[in-house]
Amino acid sequence: MSDFDYDLFVIGAGSGGVRASRVAASHGARVAVAEEHRVGGTCVIRGCVPKKLLVYGAHFAEDIHDARKFGWDVPDCTFNWDVLRDNVLAEVDRLEGLYGQTLDSHKVTLFKTRATVVGPQKVRLADGKELTAERILIATGGWPHVPEFPGSDHAITSNEVFHLDALPKRIVIAGGGYIANEFAGIFNEFGSKVTIVNRGDTILRGYDEQIRDRLLQISMTKGIDFKFNAPFQSIEKQEDGTLTVHLENCEPIEAEAVLVAAGRVPNTKGLGLEEIGVALDEKGAVVVDATNQSSVPSLYAVGDVTNRIQLTPVAIREGQAFADSVFGGKPTLVDYANVPSAVFSHPPIGAVGMTEAEARNRLGSVRIYTSDFRAMKNVLAGRNERALYKMVVNEATDQVVGLHMIGPDAPEILQAAAVAVKAGLTKADFDATVALHPSMAEELVLMK
Ligand code: NDP
Repeated sequence: MSDFDYDLFVIGAGSGGVRASRVAASHGARVAVAEEHRVGGTCVIRGCVPKKLLVYGAHFAEDIHDARKFGWDVPDCTFNWDVLRDNVLAEVDRLEGLYGQTLDSHKVTLFKTRATVVGPQKVRLADGKELTAERILIATGGWPHVPEFPGSDHAITSNEVFHLDALPKRIVIAGGGYIANEFAGIFNEFGSKVTIVNRGDTILRGYDEQIRDRLLQISMTKGIDFKFNAPFQSIEKQEDGTLTVHLENCEPIEAEAVLVAAGRVPNTKGLGLEEIGVALDEKGAVVVDATNQSSVPSLYAVGDVTNRIQLTPVAIREGQAFADSVFGGKPTLVDYANVPSAVFSHPPIGAVGMTEAEARNRLGSVRIYTSDFRAMKNVLAGRNERALYKMVVNEATDQVVGLHMIGPDAPEILQAAAVAVKAGLTKADFDATVALHPSMAEELVLMK
């Protein structure tokens, strides 16, 4: 028995923290976790999960419309935000309960309170109680970044968007990344007038240019407005509650809601890390090595708080690798190559590996294959919306080094195809695979 209260004290019960806690406990460690908000963290409570449910809810707008072309006599339908919001929030409550049960069944002690670090092996809870642990894991995630400008407090972030009292007739969304494009699609399908306002002229930086252009073009056709090179100046609240958004290089825009989606910052403020000598980078992220260890040897960090790849499955892998390495006697490093990602826009994007531009820079000679097609379902529905699949191949080895897709169900298809890219398969391997007809995914093995 060690002299410490716990073998491991985890701060933050999100995706990375919960995984690390329960795996460490299953390896026999005495584990406690502190969570100041809700068990489940960003993904479960105010991110991936409720967002995806809203995406499903939103897409019915197109399905209901298209069903008429498939012979269904669909009466005019109306959408009730309160019903969807409350059902989604109830599902979030259910999942939060399950996460709590998981911790409980692994005998992890849960402190539903804020904890800060007061020593390399000591934490303090909000009520002042101090606890010791041989190791401390920081898994506090990230927090929406709201740039400072007059009236910024009138804006909401992805934390509040799931709780809106009413569906806004008009919404301005600041930013051009994941959250901006996903919520632009959601609100547009629900019938809100959506304007995306971006400080630069690029949406979804990091994604393949052709795929980004296709989303922009389809989004505009669906009625989403884009203002580029238009940084926010201020938000003014009118007497009737309407918000007037003042921008550089643009006329003011009126809206019922303004959503700021300008990236997320690591959640380290006030945690006491710098005071005990933990190195943070310029964004406040905990600097860790490949084993998730910080500059203070007893202190580790996983997930968004380390600002490596801000994705839930990556945080889960890091939490698992940490627990297996430190408590399970199985040293494990996370492999960050070919991590697939998706944007749940309308239509969605899925991608893995290098973009065309990256591959040209890194490999020199590449072959590019594209398939630009209208999904069969869209043709019958009269929906003029083309999917685009793009394959990036290393000329020297024939290896497929990147796949980029926009179109119906692209993330579902991409997840399976990512296995082939991760395995280093070649274009010839894709060609040797017989098409599954009729499907959209068959385009992947038919590219000429
Ligand atoms: P992103 O990093 O995707 O996009 C941020 C956007 O905000 C960019 O357009 C950026 O512009 C702009 N921006 C950044 N700083 C400022 C500023 N000071 N003023 C004005 N605009 C600014 O962030 P999100 O907030 O959309 O999402 C946060 C993270 O959450 C993502 O990076 C992703 O890792 C994760 N996420 C993942 C999802 C998924 O996997 N489907 C869904 C939602 C979130 P510029 O391009 O010029 O830098």
